[in-house]
Amino acid sequence: EQRSEMENQAHVLFHKFLQGKKCTETLNAFRELCTELQLDHTDFQHLYQKLKGSLNYWKAKALWTKLDKRASHSDYGQGQACSGTKCLVLGAGPCGLRTAIELAFLGAKVILIEKRDTFSRNNVLHLWPFTIHDLKTLGAKKFYGKFCSGCLDHISIRQLQLMLLKVALILGIEIHVNVEFKGLIEPPKNQEKKTGWKAELLPANHPVTEFEFDVLVSAGGSNFIPNGFKKKEMRGKLAIGITANFVNRHSSAEAKVEEISGVASLYNQKFFQQLHNETGIDLENIVYYKDDTHYFVMTAKKQSLLKYGVIRQDQRETNALLNTHNMDKKSLLRYAHQAADFCTNHQLPDLEFALNHRGDPDVAMFDFTCMYRSENAALVRERHGHRLLVALVGDCLVEPFWPLGTGIARGFLAALDAAWLVRGWGMGTAPLELLAERESIYQLLSQTKPENTHKKVTLYSIDPFTRYPNLNLNFFKANQMERISLSSEDIHRNGKPLNTLGDVEQLLSWCKEQIEGYGNVKVVDLTASWRNGLALCALLHKFRPNLIDFESLKETNVAENNQLAFDIAEREFGIPPIMTGTEMATATSPDKLSMVMYLTQLKDIFKDSSP
Ligand code: FAD
Repeated sequence: EQRSEMENQAHVLFHKFLQGKKCTETLNAFRELCTELQLDHTDFQHLYQKLKGSLNYWKAKALWTKLDKRASHSDYGQGQACSGTKCLVLGAGPCGLRTAIELAFLGAKVILIEKRDTFSRNNVLHLWPFTIHDLKTLGAKKFYGKFCSGCLDHISIRQLQLMLLKVALILGIEIHVNVEFKGLIEPPKNQEKKTGWKAELLPANHPVTEFEFDVLVSAGGSNFIPNGFKKKEMRGKLAIGITANFVNRHSSAEAKVEEISGVASLYNQKFFQQLHNETGIDLENIVYYKDDTHYFVMTAKKQSLLKYGVIRQDQRETNALLNTHNMDKKSLLRYAHQAADFCTNHQLPDLEFALNHRGDPDVAMFDFTCMYRSENAALVRERHGHRLLVALVGDCLVEPFWPLGTGIARGFLAALDAAWLVRGWGMGTAPLELLAERESIYQLLSQTKPENTHKKVTLYSIDPFTRYPNLNLNFFKANQMERISLSSEDIHRNGKPLNTLGDVEQLLSWCKEQIEGYGNVKVVDLTASWRNGLALCALLHKFRPNLIDFESLKETNVAENNQLAFDIAEREFGIPPIMTGTEMATATSPDKLSMVMYLTQLKDIFKDSSP
């Protein structure tokens, strides 16, 4: 009897968790559930199985069936593909959460940090068929019964976050809110304890600052691009977006009003002419979705905003034009209200603004004139023998143009691509090969549409071939990644750039200087000059002459020379080899990134010691 009472209590708590409507409420409900079941919510390897074992009544079972099916996909290698990988995910937006879930399926330890503790965006995202299917396989309907019922193909941003948060928690992802990522902390050098990469966080003493990881997924949204990545600006013609949300009372009158899908509206010139004539409002497009709110997104023409008094004064610079000081909020509310009313043929009764998280009418104006995308999707850092993969997903990879209706689709595609990258990382693929593959896939992202991606959405997985029909994984070659990785190397910490191109030049001249006296060795670069291993041996000999009998080395013994140097560096200074001597002998030339990483470590050790 006592057992069934406990079970009942657990069922109540599980139900409360599934029904959670807010971020913190959901996190607390999950903790409560774990406490009741005496489960450690940080035990990522066993939590899901234990939850499943403890909650085996029909409602929970239906969810386990979905998640089990998903987890059994061969890509995940039975949850072992990344079993040694530790990932820090930055940002609990839809893309950070979505990526984290894939990493958990791959068996990685995942900690996710989010600087806020609320999911407050009413705005609505369009879902392509694959995203609907994807979310359904994660049990979307179990968390949000209304999810895409009938022909609905959208969801509010906050509902999407809530749903993904719940899946993430169940899969054992540790989630910490009110924690802000401030930067990376490099592994210290010459350490006894081999401490890896860590993060600098706010609050500074947060326990996650102790977490050592080898993968950082940055999903901090469009305003957050981690150091080391270059932004590419895509400047188009002036495009001013307005979003507005109105209260949805779910009455039958409201239910009858038809939505306006993005694409259809783009071509309906007659309609826009009529709108302009009757109201003075001049739009290029408008989208209306009926969701938790009545949501509108439109692109408005500057002249009509000026005439309407929304923008006070014309300015040449877009920043100045759309600055809040140059905007009349009341006129903006009228403009959005009138546009929404006209576009729904005055059929939505009592159009009352929904409120945003500040308690103000939820209307906003955004500048889409200048959109950004990151030049690269990922980079690899190496410091004192510790490698770190940094991958971007979501808006910090490519900013979406909302009115075009791509919604969250490209964000999710990139999340799956990033998971594929981490899979390769976890399985030990060489970093430059991985980067080359990731960049090749990234080439396709901005052109993806439902029409040019695979139709069989039920077969989609993290494997890019299941999604992109014309994929050429060799679009970039590993050796081209040196440039990308090197230019991405200038991660700043405390304002000090590391391994910038300047540093690389300095490294080369330092090496030349040290090796100058060795007659049969000539160093002119950081690649081919090092192939026969003599330069590496010379460098070691210069500082530790007792470790190498340099005179006995032969130029033609490439594998032996390199192996000798690699062994000494590892044994004496703890620097892990970049490859074996034989691999070096069979390569036409060592890869530059690896050589820079390797030689930097030697330089760090020798630079203050006199030969
Ligand atoms: P986001 O959803 O932006 O999430 C990023 C998360 O990272 C945030 O929760 C943020 O708090 C957190 N974060 C940032 N920096 C740090 C840090 N240093 N440390 C810890 N956490 C951090 N798209 C549309 O298609 N239509 C719309 O109408 C629309 N409206 C939007 C309105 C707003 C106000 C915003 C910000 C975005 C809107 N978008 C809209 C974009 C849409 O939300 C994103 O495309 C989608 O959410 C995927 O984004 P993401 O997960 O990459 O990033």
